Parts: sequence; structure tokens; C-alpha cells
Amino acid sequence: MNKHVTENKYSLTINGEGVEAKSSFGVINPATEEVFAQAPEASDQQLNAAFDAAENAFDSWRKDESARRAALAAASEAITNASERLASVLTAEGGKPIANARTEVMVASIWLKYYSELDLPREIIQDDERAFSEILRRPVGPVAAITPWNYPLTLGSWKIGPALLAGNTMVLKPSPYTPLSTLVMGEVLRGIFPPGVLNILTGGDDLGAKMTSHPKTRKISFTGSVATGKHVAASAARDLKLVTLELGGNDPAILLDDVDIDAIAQNIFWGAFANNGQVCSAIKRVYAPKSIYKDVVEALTELAKNAKVGNGADESTDLGPLNNAQQYERVKELSADALRNGAKATTGGNPIDGPGYFFEPTILTGALDGSRIVDEEQFGPVLPIIPYDDIDDAIAKANNSKYGLSGSVWAKDTERGDAVAAQLEAGTTWVNCHMAFSPEIPFGGNKWSGTGLENGVWGVQSFTEPHVVYRTVQEPAIYR
Ligand code: NAD
Repeated sequence: MNKHVTENKYSLTINGEGVEAKSSFGVINPATEEVFAQAPEASDQQLNAAFDAAENAFDSWRKDESARRAALAAASEAITNASERLASVLTAEGGKPIANARTEVMVASIWLKYYSELDLPREIIQDDERAFSEILRRPVGPVAAITPWNYPLTLGSWKIGPALLAGNTMVLKPSPYTPLSTLVMGEVLRGIFPPGVLNILTGGDDLGAKMTSHPKTRKISFTGSVATGKHVAASAARDLKLVTLELGGNDPAILLDDVDIDAIAQNIFWGAFANNGQVCSAIKRVYAPKSIYKDVVEALTELAKNAKVGNGADESTDLGPLNNAQQYERVKELSADALRNGAKATTGGNPIDGPGYFFEPTILTGALDGSRIVDEEQFGPVLPIIPYDDIDDAIAKANNSKYGLSGSVWAKDTERGDAVAAQLEAGTTWVNCHMAFSPEIPFGGNKWSGTGLENGVWGVQSFTEPHVVYRTVQEPAIYR
């Protein structure tokens, strides 16, 4: 492992300074199961200091839009300049292949650059001989931002960019499984944002709970599991804090009978297996028409067989390990449950002998709706392919879920594809692609997959409160 990953001393960022903590916790490399670094465990005093700093920085930060834009642009550049360092830490703590880690760093940089240039949303409602009225957007103050382990830097930037552009300040906490990359990002950005604007804390899940209930938090931006999201919503409700929840998903991909399987197989495969299946919006179940079912299974099986599983630090690795022991156990359990209940693995189906949380890329046939692997979020490299006769039946099955994050429809006849897409209950449905993210396109879940939107102007709006200003030009007749 890269020397500056193991020898670095990782520190919190509070009020623009690097701060050490009295206690720390070990960070495991999922490819080796070894603790390779210690992350600081923020104390209650440090939590309060971070929110005090965020509160103190708010007033001048909110008033200087050009300083905010300049800082976001500089932050984007600093992240790009630190790309190799950030990527090697991401791979060591997260397990993802180094090329994917570099992409994640690049995405974080692109998102911050995008927000440095985005016009602040302005909505004029009325502008005529009677009145001028518009909705101003007021930043709310300190934001508590909490991210999961699968994309700490990407998802951090989805929060930092819009929240800070809008004039808020922030306390950001990554997952205890992947704390280091966000700490390094905090270090890299010190001096770019004024002290207190961006504070980075690490610790356990209890630190997240303390952030959501902190009296100085005015907005919670949370990305993580449904179960935690419900706790976060309850915590927000107690103090009527604003809240955005980006939660889990169980994305269906529906193939129509006119698809050219050879042409789309790679895209479906990587839509499901990117980051070893550990993506909220990865394809988690495929619905294929019976007429082409066998060919779909064969094509995906072939790709799964050829994917190289290994340590993400090795440049030739396609799929790394699962991120942590709990997730590894979950994937093993869901795969075994499917196989016990009649599903067949056309390839894979088993854990790979350790060390490391490695699992074989797995394609399942014979797993039906109602089974755990189809109904639950597996978040790992196990993909069930389900045959269907009737497209309405496939749509009904795709929608018969507590989740509603995203999904995709694959069709040569795009009119038919669009018509099916419109019927899916999801925050996003892609047609002939999957996980096509872009900073200007909003993203958010329906049903259990969350509330609120990230990205684009919608992302900025979510970090503001609306303020209607109404000015009469000519006094309305009603008052005469
Ligand atoms: P998780 O819910 O266990 O943890 C997420 C974060 O919440 C971590 O930082 C954790 O420390 C913190 N946390 C835990 N308990 C808390 C509490 N009571 N109050 C406040 N914070 C608390 O999720 P995870 O296992 O890290 O991430 C995987 C999940 O995230 C999957 O379900 C995945 O689908 C989802 N996810 C969703 C999106 C999206 O955009 N919709 C993106 C990525 C991941």
C-alpha cells in the first residue's frame, strides 16, 4: 500500500485548522482485512466547536457570493491536484479499483467547479403593471452533511457544492468505514474556504445522530440506508429542521423484446456491477422477455466470468471486495438464501477464500419476485435475471417495491421505451443507459428511497428557505 496512506496522520478540520482527537478508531482495508490507519474520533466538545465555527462563519460567507464562487473553483482545482493521494486513500479504505477511485475524485472536482459557475436560482412570479414579486432563496445556516461509505468524495461534493454556493456553512461526516478520504479532502481544502465554512468530523454512527439533533443544525443532508434515514427524519422532525434524504434503492432494468443484446450487455453489466454492486442506483434486478431470456443470461454470465476480482490497488482489477464485514455477510446471506430457494447461479454464487471481503460476480436465474434477493437491496455483486411474458406484468413487478430510486428501460424502439419509462415509480428512469449522472440533472428518490433532490438548481434550492418578496407597482384594487 502507498506509503503516504499508511504513514499519514489524519486530522479533523475545525474552524479551518487541523485538529487531533484524544481517541481514534481503526480503519480496515477490505482487501486485506487489516487495520492500516487510525481515524480521529471527534469528541462532544469538538462537535460543538465545529458547529460554533460554522455558525460564526455564516454571516460573512452568506454575504459574499463572489468569494463563494472563487473558493468553490479553487476547491475543485485543489482536489484535482491531490487526485493521486485522494484516490489511493479511497481504494485503501473503500476497496474500489484505483481507476474508479480516480474517477470518483474527478467527479468531486467537476461537481464543485459546476457549482462555482451556476447561477443562483431566481424565480420571478409576477412582473407587470400591478406588482413585482419574486422568490428569494435564503441560506439556512450550518448544515449537517452525512455520507455513506460507497462514494464518500462524490457524495460529499454533491452536498458541499450546492450548500456552500447558496451561502450555508457545513459540518460534514463520512462513514466510519471510509473516514480517511474525506479527512484528506478537508486537509487539502484548508485555507481555501474561510475558517468555519467547511468542518470535517469523523467518528461512529453516534456522531451522526448527535449532528442531526444538534441545536445549531438548520438543515440535514443525509445519504445512506433506509433504516438510518428513518432515524434521521425523526430527529429532524423534533426540531423541524430541513432534511434531504438520499436512501437505498432496488433498481429494476427492464429489457424490451427488440433489444440488441450484444450491443447493450456491457452497459447492463456495469450498470449492475460498478463498484462491485455497491451503488444506490445500481441495477439490482433485470427483467428480460422470455423470447430473449436465454441470450441475456448467457451474455451477462460471460461478462461476469471475465471480470477480474482483486485488490483495488492493482491496476488490472475490475471488481474489488465488498467494503466491510457486515456488507460481506449480507451478500453471502442473500446469495445463499436465493440458492437454497431454487435459484441457480450460472456463474459465481460463493464467497472467495480470504483474506479480504471478496465475493464471486454472480448471475442468478430462477430467483423470483417475493424472494429476498429480488425484493431487498443486495448492494453487492449478485444479479437476479427474471423472465417475463407481458410488459405490463414486468412494470407491475418493477413497481411492487418499497423503493423508488431509479431504474432503466432498454429498447430499440425508443417511443416504446419512453412509454414504459413513464410508468415506473422512481425518482429517475434512464432509457438505454443506467447511472447517467450529470451535475445539472436532479437526482432523488421516491417512496423509501428518499425525499428531496440533489444536483442542479434543485440541489441549491434544497439548501435554502424560500422568501417571497412582493412589491406593489400599483396598489391592488382590493385595498381601495
Ligand atoms: P448507513 O445508513 O449505515 O450510514 C450512512 C451514514 O449515516 C454513515 O456516515 C453513518 O455513520 C451515519 N449514521 C448511522 N447512524 C446514524 C444516525 N442514527 N443518525 C445519523 N447518522 C447516522 O448507510 P451505509 O451502509 O453507509 O450506506 C449504504 C446505503 O446508502 C445503501 O442503502 C445505499 O443504497 C445508500 N446510498 C444512497 C444513495 C442515494 O443517493 N440515494 C447514495 C449512496 C448510498
